[in-house]
Amino acid sequence: MGRLVGKVAIVTGAARGIGAGIVERLVEEGAAVVLGDARADLGAATAARLGAVFCACDVAREADVAGIVALTVERFGQLDAFVQNAGIFPMHDVEDIPVEEWDRVLAVNLRGCFLAAKHALPIMKRQRGGRLVFTSSITGPRVVPPQHAHYAASKAGINGLIRAVALEAAPFGITVNGVEPGNIMTEGVQTERSPEYIAAMQASIPMGRLGSVRDVANAVLFLVSDEAGYVTGTTIVVDGGQILPESRA
Ligand code: NAP
Repeated sequence: MGRLVGKVAIVTGAARGIGAGIVERLVEEGAAVVLGDARADLGAATAARLGAVFCACDVAREADVAGIVALTVERFGQLDAFVQNAGIFPMHDVEDIPVEEWDRVLAVNLRGCFLAAKHALPIMKRQRGGRLVFTSSITGPRVVPPQHAHYAASKAGINGLIRAVALEAAPFGITVNGVEPGNIMTEGVQTERSPEYIAAMQASIPMGRLGSVRDVANAVLFLVSDEAGYVTGTTIVVDGGQILPESRA
């Protein structure tokens, strides 16, 4: 307890799921947290429950991302960590993906991380320190199930973005990293994926269970903490060993 006392963090896509788990973990460790989500009703309720401040924010919109950074600095006078976690994961065969859906997945998942970096870095450079953490995925950077072309492209793009921004930010004492969750049991997965899909994933995880939001939140906590000060430009896989098997036998 208390590893983040005096720190101020933004966590986006946090009305529920992994993001809410990250908020809970950072608050437990003493951080002041601004919770951003496109869903005002649920976002405000989750923030109130977890002891965070709510700010409506669609991470695909530059004005919203600029707004959450401005609100945070106005309210707390500093910004130590921006965790851009918002992501959407519709499924279609590649030839059936409407162009609008392709653009929206890239806008939320990838542009959202770019906008977080663009608007947090000026503050963090002035402070001579800070942490950017993006929620990537094993899907795209390492493995892929069918019907995930846009999602996989967006998450692989996040890993490239992490390296590029980490290089530019390093001289200012700012680190840029990501987490790559495997299959994590969240509200989004329960509504967007069939029971058969979830069962197939569970069967392919050496640890025999889907991950919890806390499993991911603990990795984010490390990346945000002082202990991770020399870790930059990389990702932590949190997948119960799912990407390990060389064969199904
Ligand atoms: P979730 O349960 O659907 O929660 C995501 C939250 O983000 C929801 O409140 C959602 O609102 C919100 N959101 C969606 N679009 C947004 C936007 N444009 N701006 C701000 N907020 C937005 O999802 P999750 O399973 O926790 O996933 C969180 C992140 O982890 C995503 O980046 C996802 O790709 C990544 N991830 C998840 C898994 C997994 O197995 N769960 C695995 C690998 C990576 P709505 O309800 O309105 O959409």
